[in-house]
Amino acid sequence: PPFSRIAAVTGANKGIGLAIVRNLALQYPSSAFNNGPLLIYLCARDKKRGEDAVQALEGDAQLKKAKALARDGGLTTVRYHGLDISRTKSIVDFAGFLEKEHPEGIDMVVNNAGIAMDGFDINVVKETLQCNYYGTLTATRSLLPLIRPGGRLVNLSSMVGHLNSKYSAAIRTAFADSRTVDDVTALMEAFTAAVAEGKEKELGWPSAAYAVSKSGVTGMTRAVALEVQQAGGTGKGTSVLVNSCCPGYVDTDMTKHNGSKTVDEGAQTPVLLVCGDVGGRGGEFWQHESVIEW
Ligand code: NDP
Repeated sequence: PPFSRIAAVTGANKGIGLAIVRNLALQYPSSAFNNGPLLIYLCARDKKRGEDAVQALEGDAQLKKAKALARDGGLTTVRYHGLDISRTKSIVDFAGFLEKEHPEGIDMVVNNAGIAMDGFDINVVKETLQCNYYGTLTATRSLLPLIRPGGRLVNLSSMVGHLNSKYSAAIRTAFADSRTVDDVTALMEAFTAAVAEGKEKELGWPSAAYAVSKSGVTGMTRAVALEVQQAGGTGKGTSVLVNSCCPGYVDTDMTKHNGSKTVDEGAQTPVLLVCGDVGGRGGEFWQHESVIEW
């Protein structure tokens, strides 16, 4: 086959996602994962924004200097593919495309796409969870079975989803004790129901959709990693290292450019988790290239 390794990064037309594609192209050649030509799907929900991003990478001076992209004799090819993680059909279509195009399997998935909306009400909660939690979960469920043994799946979570005093002790414990995806989804449903009744504060939740969605991503990722570890086996979807991470506080549109890290710095932990030496660890939450407490 023309490509030895296949990767996909969601929400990759700008911000940290685009930097993940760029830094993966730069770091892949010297990584232990290098097994020959790499194809990265730069996924975006908007065709124009996605194709413009691919074009920007093709003109990127640092990538050119490193001869990272195939055009200059490099190892990596970047292609746009449409993907809106808030729409289940879009995810299912992408997974179907990958399965048909790469029946031998894929190697690396970074679920980076996410939103942080202004304001707080039930609509904000539903839209935020639909993208950040349910979209990331559906993408994980759809793409993980395509990953070859030894491959990687990384979900972008956040320190904002840390289990601290924004939650009541009971909810903190419920998150910490969650072991299955259903356990975590039940917490997302409880939060949504509480907001719908205007009782989230009373019931121990913060009035913060983004934070809760990211606690969900961290818990869900750990639960999926446990499933993979317990299932064992030898085919696609087995022996995959599944982790979540916080990229740090990064200067992007999402942070209204208040973040202190550059997008390249923000990409370092996700890129490590997708092609670096992680000591065989799965089911962990990472920041600053290290495992941290959730
Ligand atoms: P940006 O807002 O700059 O970029 C978000 C990307 O996700 C965009 O490409 C956007 O596409 C895409 N996206 C949004 N919704 C969807 C969707 N439904 N389907 C597909 N793509 C979608 O954010 P960042 O780069 O800052 O954030 C990237 C990830 O890192 C997010 O998951 C975020 O929560 C997380 N994170 C960021 C931190 C930071 O400090 N920046 C801190 C902690 C976590 P479009 O251009 O079409 O809107």
